[in-house]
Amino acid sequence: MLQKQVAILGSTGSIGVNTLDVIRAHPERFRVAALTAGKQVDRLAEQCIEFKPNIAVVADAEGARRLSQLLIEKKINTQVLYGSQALVAAVTDSHCDTVMAAIVGAAGLLPTLAAAQAGKRVLLANKEALVMSGNLFMQAMKQGGGELLPIDSEHNAIFQCLPPQFTKAPNPNLGVEELWLTASGGPFRDTPLNQLSGITPDQACAHPNWVMGRKISVDSATMMNKGLEVIEAFWLFGLPLEKIKVLVHPQSVVHSMVRYRDGSVIAQMGQPDMRTPIAYGLAWPERIDAGVASLSLTQLASLSFREPDLSHFPCLALAFAAAQAGGTAPTALNAANEIAVAAFLDSGLPYLQIPVVVEKTLNAIQVRAADSLEVILDIDAQTRKVAQDFVQAIVSS
Ligand code: NAD
Ligand code: MG
Repeated sequence: MLQKQVAILGSTGSIGVNTLDVIRAHPERFRVAALTAGKQVDRLAEQCIEFKPNIAVVADAEGARRLSQLLIEKKINTQVLYGSQALVAAVTDSHCDTVMAAIVGAAGLLPTLAAAQAGKRVLLANKEALVMSGNLFMQAMKQGGGELLPIDSEHNAIFQCLPPQFTKAPNPNLGVEELWLTASGGPFRDTPLNQLSGITPDQACAHPNWVMGRKISVDSATMMNKGLEVIEAFWLFGLPLEKIKVLVHPQSVVHSMVRYRDGSVIAQMGQPDMRTPIAYGLAWPERIDAGVASLSLTQLASLSFREPDLSHFPCLALAFAAAQAGGTAPTALNAANEIAVAAFLDSGLPYLQIPVVVEKTLNAIQVRAADSLEVILDIDAQTRKVAQDFVQAIVSS
């Protein structure tokens, strides 16, 4: 068996750690070629000591100096680099054939795009990268000729439920009618909006079913996450937006579904554990042990589904509107949301002001055709500035 050489963008995060957990159990199949992190140098050092990658990347020079020191003490001869160009170098290195894209947010765009262009197998967790650059990213994958495996649990589920030919090129003869994305509804699913004004970051991050990084946890509470996922599904699977539906499913057992023309609905089920989609992406088309307990249907009280209430989840409504608008609207949606969520987590922006900042910002940014990386990066930068100004005005009032 040919051993896969895996680079992990964001190895110290929730997806990164779960990826290493799967790799650890299958040393004959996978070797770690590169590990990258933002600022968590100590955790990255531990990972390098265990997995001995060729390359490790951190955000800045000071982090690189500390990491080098820690690795020299342990006689690990991993090459230590820093900065965004180094992320690109790590994933395009000829030793690596598989890239787990698990940086959170727009910071992951350039290396993920580079991995696509370089024809690597891309395991896509970093949905923000695809939402920002949709068409451009899918073109880069096509030109690079590598495989794109969705890691987001819903999209991984849909990938599993679709005919394999359809995941290569959407074909109307295959009878795919609709994609049904499930959503837990987050910790405030049943809490009236007027009780959410004093919500703290820790309360918003306490997801009922999944353990995840803080940004995506807040996005799950506001359901912006599902909005980003609708846009993600649109690009990944090539169906019109009106055929992509969201269902609130509090138990997080059915990870998503495909409805077919003949009346069949195919669902993928499992424990809410990201190691299942990660193992699927790593080993595809084979299946390997992911370390995940088997699902026991008899121990489940019930499975329930309902339509989302858009007045309860204004972020989901904003995402639908941006998806409809197309062009750079999703780029701006993502940037405004990143700024608003960061301000909620770190700078005292009240929880209920997240959709307010996103909406005001989107109203102030003109939609353009998303036809080049320059335009996308320009809209991203411009939107962040406008969103930051709205945050400032709210926080200082
Ligand atoms: P996390 O916050 O736990 O980890 C993020 C990783 O990115 C860390 O390694 C961090 O060091 C790195 N990072 C952050 N900013 C960086 C920067 N500027 N430059 C370089 N590296 C940087 O996040 P997570 O929960 O693991 O999520 C990662 C991605 O996967 C997100 O896009 C998220 O939407 C997606 N995702 C996560 C889950 C989940 O269960 N956690 C599920 C589906 C999709
Ligand atoms: Mg998801």
